[in-house]
Amino acid sequence: MFKVISLSDAKAMIEEQFGSLRLPIQIIKLENASGRFLAADIVSDEFIPAFDRSTVDGYAVISRDLRGCSDSIPSILLKAGESPMGEMPTHTLRPGECFYVPTGGALPPGADAMVMIEFVEDFGSGEFAFVKPVAPGANMIFKGEDLQPGSQILPSGKQLNPADIGTLASMGLTEVEVFKQPEVGIISTGDELVPAGIKLMPGKIRDVNTHMLSALLRETGAVAQTHEIVPDQRNMLRKTIQKALSTVDILLVSGGTSVGEHDNLPVLIEELGQILVHGIAIKPGKPTIIGKIDNKPIIGLPGNPVAAFFMFHALVKPLLFSLSNSQEAQQTVLANLTRAVPSNHGREEVILVWLEGDQAAPVPSKSGLISTVSKANGYFLIPREKEGLAAGEQVNINRL
Ligand code: AMP
Ligand code: MG
Repeated sequence: MFKVISLSDAKAMIEEQFGSLRLPIQIIKLENASGRFLAADIVSDEFIPAFDRSTVDGYAVISRDLRGCSDSIPSILLKAGESPMGEMPTHTLRPGECFYVPTGGALPPGADAMVMIEFVEDFGSGEFAFVKPVAPGANMIFKGEDLQPGSQILPSGKQLNPADIGTLASMGLTEVEVFKQPEVGIISTGDELVPAGIKLMPGKIRDVNTHMLSALLRETGAVAQTHEIVPDQRNMLRKTIQKALSTVDILLVSGGTSVGEHDNLPVLIEELGQILVHGIAIKPGKPTIIGKIDNKPIIGLPGNPVAAFFMFHALVKPLLFSLSNSQEAQQTVLANLTRAVPSNHGREEVILVWLEGDQAAPVPSKSGLISTVSKANGYFLIPREKEGLAAGEQVNINRL
């Protein structure tokens, strides 16, 4: 029944089965778009800047006019006018002329370089002396140097950050096409679970996963739809799954994923749809199920909150990104282990660490208590074939 496969094979299965699913597209106001995923490439339809612009306070010149000038033989140019901020100069610069332009102002047609005011001497009666040659394009930005009509600015799938919002505003956009936020159902199941806020009777424990998974979903840009705790009763779980599935893009069920008598999820997924993966060779996280009902992903996460936390990162997060045509940017850091870590399980193993500079101190966690994850700021994976790691060994840390 349990056919354990590697984490990378499980990921590949998700990619194969759900890699082409995409969320519907919406048009929303730019002010609401931070954190959302672009649904189309953003392409410029104008020149930015729209005119040749100075980057200094100084004089616009024709660079040829300054060829060969020096302290002893300066080039003398006649000032033909000043460029007003926010307007286009109408005068076309002729050989022998210069034109005052402030920082950010428009160069007059005909000019091809700027000379900083500090390097120009006012000889009086409109004559200005230049003592150093200047290269064409110096101290200015040409029209279209940043962007030209047709150039791609942001790709589809990009999760918009505040700088992107600024970029879109600079293009004059007030609305943007994004993917709908994924709606994800969460069902916690187990006879021992009680909601937070209710007195704990002997033998009971508090439901951690509903809250933790909601927070993880929010952090990933998804919307959580929570349900009341379901006891280990097949009919009740079936009903809740069917109800939940009708309104979500993905369904997460935590607990009851193993092969015990009270573990109902495998049987129900088999009955309502199809099991794709049951069992992943990773510690913690072995009793994980990947299934499909009516072409929707249903992921059975282990009830152990630490395992559910890591399986969310390893499987659910990439799936959420892929629904918006996106990929998570990997943010790993290389660090050295402060002490040896044993491991000989024939499965990959997740090790929590406290990362300080380039030193990673392993954080003990064998109890499945989520507070041990709170004590860590990173984790790494020991590969399946490795029998532990020595002190000082280099590991690739994922930040938490
Ligand atoms: P299960 O996956 O149902 O076999 O549960 C594995 C372990 O996780 C058991 O110790 C459960 O009591 C615990 N557990 C299951 N669901 C939750 C939950 N929602 N919150 C906290 N602990 C849970
Ligand atoms: Mg259980």
